[in-house]
Amino acid sequence: MDERYSRQVLFPGIGKDGQAKIRKKHVLIIGAGALGSGNAEILTRAGVGKITIVDRDYVEASNLQRQQLYTEADVAEKLPKAAAAEKRLTAINSDVEIKAIIGDVTPEFLEELIADVDVMIDATDNFETRMMMNDAAQKYNVPWIYGACVGSFGMSFSIIPGKTPCLNCLLRTIPLQGMTCDTGGIIAPTVQMVISHQTVEALKMLVEDWEAVRTSFVSFDLWRNQYSSMKMSKAKFAGCASCGEERTYPYLDRDNMTKTTVLCGRDTVQIRPAAVMEVSLEQLATQLRTLGYEVKGNPYLLSVEMGSERMVIFQEGRALVHGTKDVTHAKTIYQRIMG
Ligand SMILES: [Zn+2]
Repeated sequence: MDERYSRQVLFPGIGKDGQAKIRKKHVLIIGAGALGSGNAEILTRAGVGKITIVDRDYVEASNLQRQQLYTEADVAEKLPKAAAAEKRLTAINSDVEIKAIIGDVTPEFLEELIADVDVMIDATDNFETRMMMNDAAQKYNVPWIYGACVGSFGMSFSIIPGKTPCLNCLLRTIPLQGMTCDTGGIIAPTVQMVISHQTVEALKMLVEDWEAVRTSFVSFDLWRNQYSSMKMSKAKFAGCASCGEERTYPYLDRDNMTKTTVLCGRDTVQIRPAAVMEVSLEQLATQLRTLGYEVKGNPYLLSVEMGSERMVIFQEGRALVHGTKDVTHAKTIYQRIMG
């Protein structure tokens, strides 16, 4: 075995056999932002055989504080993140086959991507893509690692089809909405902590040490010095549409994806979420107030002031974004709040 990986091979959890396994595996990383950068760098250094990384965005100045693969030159060139990531990762370890894809993740595309993947990593910033990943992981029997962070708060969970609850199951017990970096700002140590949790789980999966994989839901607040690890074995739901007995994989159905409509003459965009969404307005309101938003509401809807726009969210997840006719902009605002 290469001198290059000697320290990792010396680690008893990995060893020569583990390293040989790592070299043969394929990891799919969805997103090349803060979590994607860090996950990709660590796994590239670890010598994973192949890494596919997908992202639809380009590098901006506000990314540099925490997205470790990028430089000022990438910002000046407005390089797509996937392209900048590929350049940097290849320079770090030319042994690893890096496949970078610039584009949006759709159900069809994800089903194509996931075919020969051993482990998938969640480095996305929105809920719709995560639910799509969750369904694809169940359908193609691919373990994956959820991760999210905002401010000094982060969380992670390992999902093994057939063994652990899935993300859709988890939603019944944990409110996961409102967890995106755009809403409340973010500090780099939070990102690094989530990356550590995700990559260590990935390494365990890559060496096939399934016993070692964490089955609890971990969350922490680095600023307030809080750390929690919740058992999730009871969260698995037999009627789950993604992992249950009569599963339908609703998030792989294009018809269930977010739909947008510009409402005539009202300077308003209506957004319908992917199906099967039930929003706890009370929980969401509390979360948004914690993040500093001005929120008004009643039992049927919430109204959130967001600078020049105002968003009204209904219980079924539908929203009206007032103050814009730009569908893409409205969708961005929606995903900021709904995760
Ligand atoms: Zn489930």
